[in-house]
Formats: sequence, structure tokens, C-alpha cells
Amino acid sequence: MVQREVLFEFIRMGNAVKVTATDTLTLAEVATICHAHTSRRDMENLALKRLDAFLTKQADQAHAKGYEGLPCKHCGKYTLKRSATRVKCDTCGKEVRF
Ligand SMILES: [Zn+2]
Repeated sequence: MVQREVLFEFIRMGNAVKVTATDTLTLAEVATICHAHTSRRDMENLALKRLDAFLTKQADQAHAKGYEGLPCKHCGKYTLKRSATRVKCDTCGKEVRF
């Protein structure tokens, strides 16, 4: 997995807390609702699990379309194509080195 940063946002509404996790590279965002008594650590772990599942799905879909299963380091899209000598992004056109 590429080195990543995830932003968490917590919005409390009565007995519920909406937890949003955003992957800063792909800008993929998932939200989940937890009970307000849930610990912050558990909320983060749950949101992170859902974010990982979402990103895995994105990678699988990219594979199915013939792309590499990794996001572009420049634009975050799963549109990297490998040729004999290099890996290039179909979205932003930049070359990516691993
Ligand atoms: Zn790109």
C-alpha cells in the first residue's frame, strides 16, 4: 500500500456521531454512524475499515479495466497503465515511479 494520510471528521447529532474518513490521496470518503458512547479509537477503526474496503473495491475495478491496482501519486485516480518500460497515468498523463 502507498503511504497514506486519512482525515477524520466527527459530527455529533444527539446519541449518534457521524464519522467521516477521507483518504487524502484519492479523496475517497466514507461515512459511518456510531453511537455517541463509542470510543473515538473504535470510531476511527470502523471508519478506516470501511475506507479500506472502498479503496480495495476501487482497485479491483481498476484491475478489471486493465489498470494497475494502485492510485496515481499525482492525481489519485486508479488509472495507471504499465507498458514495457514505464507506468503512466491515463488521467493526468504523468509518469509514476514506484
Ligand atoms: Zn494521475
